[in-house]
Amino acid sequence: MSLWNTAHPWLRELVSYEPGKPIEDVARELGLKPEEIIKLASNENPLGPSPKALDAMRAMLERSHFYPDGGGYYLREGIAAKLGLKRENVILGCGSNEVIEFIGKAFLNPGDEIVCARHAFVVYKLMATLFGATTVEVPDPGFAHDLDAMAAAITPRTREVFIANPNNPTGTLLSQTEIDRFMDKVPEHVVVVFDEAYYEFLENPPDTLKFVREGRNVVVLRTFSKIQGLANLRIGYGLAKPDLIDVLQKTRQPFNANGIAQAGALAGLADDDHQRKTRELTIIGRDHMQREFAALGLEFVPSFANFILVRVGDGKAVFQALLRKGIIVRDMTSYALPEWIRVSIGTAAQNARFLDELRQLPDLAIAASAR
Ligand SMILES: *Cc1c(COP(=O)(O)O)cnc(C)c1O
Repeated sequence: MSLWNTAHPWLRELVSYEPGKPIEDVARELGLKPEEIIKLASNENPLGPSPKALDAMRAMLERSHFYPDGGGYYLREGIAAKLGLKRENVILGCGSNEVIEFIGKAFLNPGDEIVCARHAFVVYKLMATLFGATTVEVPDPGFAHDLDAMAAAITPRTREVFIANPNNPTGTLLSQTEIDRFMDKVPEHVVVVFDEAYYEFLENPPDTLKFVREGRNVVVLRTFSKIQGLANLRIGYGLAKPDLIDVLQKTRQPFNANGIAQAGALAGLADDDHQRKTRELTIIGRDHMQREFAALGLEFVPSFANFILVRVGDGKAVFQALLRKGIIVRDMTSYALPEWIRVSIGTAAQNARFLDELRQLPDLAIAASAR
């Protein structure tokens, strides 16, 4: 008898998350040295972690034989203080991805619905599928979330609406006005999740924490994986009103956020200088890349985050060709965007090497001349 007969039937439909290709895999498969490879595939910080975070983590390594603080006292205090909230408004996750899972565990039953945009971050749908819920994907003309259409897609079975702002993989941003108008329409039975993984890259970020303060059913997600450069540590957080956090706390394992991650995150949080440098590097690199794409005649989605979605013709072929040159980007077939790749902003040298190799690809001429 197949185990699939006894496992949850909806698990058959669950496709695994396709991550950016690790440098180690590319080195092994192509016989390259890891140092020769650049990875612009997972929106990581090209400057690495904050030096202050590294020091704090080294110190905590010595205490690896102790279980971590399962309550995450100091990190939750630190996050709350920085944002003008209370510790009771904060839950830690093994990446903010885990908080998406908590929200699913807490609220989704088989047959329920979640609402998200057609090209939203795929993890929302993966998590909904894991709990037997249905994902209602709302068209996103021009790759921007259509919040009026998303509000109209809410039914009595809708439990959660996911809004990534800026969105990944499109890099588009919603304004405060659009968000406020949406929140005026959302019924009480729905939890609205604002996924703000790239919040710290914004020059004029919209305010969604006001909904937390007002006691709305809102969870704001943030992470240490992006501007903080701690993706390997798996640490992120959710912000919500205390009784919503209490519900989510019930769904997690006692030591879901490890102590080395907590120590690194807390020290990184205070390193404004490292975040500022990262933001500046990103904005300059992003402007440069977008100008070069325009010069090449390539369509791209103007980005508010640390990556750009660009139309190259045959995305898989371009991904493979760049890979052979030791440059890892993200192929977008899993987002049903076969003509596009997503490239993260690297250092100036990494961006230049990517652009040089891109210009030399024969496939590219096809994308540019077809328009
Ligand atoms: C990168 C990213 C995350 C963060 O994931 P972690 O689990 O915190 O590493 C969450 N949401 C979006 C939209 C992202 O792009």
